[in-house]
Amino acid sequence: MSSQSQTFVIVGGGLAGAKAAEALRDKDFSGEIVLFAAEEHLPYERPPLSKEYLAGKKTLDEFTVNSAAWYRDHRVDLRLGTTVASLDVREHLVGLQDGSTQRYDKLLLATGSASRRLPIAGSDADGVHYLRTVDDADALDAAITADSALAVVGGGWIGLEVAAEARRRGAKVTVAEAAELPLLGALGREVAEVFAKLHRDHDVDLRLSTSVEEITTADGVATGLRLGDGSTVDADAVLVAVGAAPNVGLATVAGLAMAPDGGVAVDSSLRTSDPDVFAVGDIASAQHPLFGTRIRTEHWANALKQPAAAVAGMLGTPTEYAELPYFFTDQYDLGMEYAGYARDYARVVFRGDVDGREFVAFWLDSDSRVLAGMNVNIWDVLDDVKSLIRSQKPVDADKLADPQQALSSLM
Ligand SMILES: Cc1cc2nc3c(=O)[nH]c(=O)nc-3n(C[C@H](O)[C@H](O)[C@H](O)COP(=O)(O)OP(=O)(O)OC[C@H]3O[C@@H](n4cnc5c(N)ncnc54)[C@H](O)[C@@H]3O)c2cc1C
Repeated sequence: MSSQSQTFVIVGGGLAGAKAAEALRDKDFSGEIVLFAAEEHLPYERPPLSKEYLAGKKTLDEFTVNSAAWYRDHRVDLRLGTTVASLDVREHLVGLQDGSTQRYDKLLLATGSASRRLPIAGSDADGVHYLRTVDDADALDAAITADSALAVVGGGWIGLEVAAEARRRGAKVTVAEAAELPLLGALGREVAEVFAKLHRDHDVDLRLSTSVEEITTADGVATGLRLGDGSTVDADAVLVAVGAAPNVGLATVAGLAMAPDGGVAVDSSLRTSDPDVFAVGDIASAQHPLFGTRIRTEHWANALKQPAAAVAGMLGTPTEYAELPYFFTDQYDLGMEYAGYARDYARVVFRGDVDGREFVAFWLDSDSRVLAGMNVNIWDVLDDVKSLIRSQKPVDADKLADPQQALSSLM
């Protein structure tokens, strides 16, 4: 069948969905592209929502992926405010909420994630916020004022970034976290300590190793938290930032193979268990050629880069997606980039000034191979960090820790 007479459907109007439409036209796909997007906004990137957008330094236009004119000019049938409700892989059909259907030749699932809800009393009260969309960010922005108190449930990336912005505004901030340290699961103890100190240094009240039993309310409006030890936190607004859950409902009901991590199982070319269906971004649990394991990350870089690889497969020339996981954050005066994958590591080696928050941290396995690296307030080292990870060769830890030794000389 000529590509002109084919219809490719993309479900999910986030960064990944928009990039897939772009990649299809870049690769000269001349058939029909239909992009279903549940939100009313043109596809946009989410990282600024807890950073520059919340801080008033960027407008939505600046992180909208493509203009409305772009979709028109590139013949992408963008259906905003349209949720795909069903998927029949045998008939090659997606169904919409109004009962209509759309046929596809190839389908890309890019449905992303939703904020996890807290199953406790008070979690739906007025004044309780979640942060996933630009509308969520607008509501949160209005709630954080200099003379307000914000209680954040969850010391993960989003909770900590919002805590930093709230402190910048002068608000009183408490973060309640179940683990012993914020970001413990993501970074391990050694580097999580750095972030705990960062927030304490900025007068955030960190309540660690604690459960949140209830969001207290008065007349249906949140007034704070009741913690597991019986203590309470007074707040004018509560942000629940306890992670995200991948939107895999369509894939599950359609019978696509799922991965143990809760994502849609895809091979290294991002193809699902159905040969005509691909998945990218937050929902994709992809076999990684370098790490030899399945990896699902909720990272902007995946949403940016995986679509081009998936599109190659949709067009009949499968290609392996072998990028290293990559993540970044900005909190107060700390900016960092993280590359690699260090779920199990033997030790962390620091290079530079940890107390001054200008360093590179390396996660090593028991054979002294670099699994991951994080550069904090040091720039232009990311390529070397990535090369060290890719080399998969043991490194001399003393040299790694010594800023006088060029990283490139360690490979
Ligand atoms: C506040 C915030 C800050 C972040 N900061 C960082 C950061 O600093 N660094 C980093 O690496 N990552 C960050 N992330 C994560 C990053 O934004 C995500 O990994 C990325 O958005 C994933 O892109 P995606 O396109 O896969 O999914 P999403 O961005 O979630 O987009 C999916 C879209 O699909 C729509 N959709 C879902 N189901 C359907 C359906 N059935 N029909 C139609 N449409 C549907 C959704 O409404 C959504 O608009 C952040 C996320 C948030 C929320």
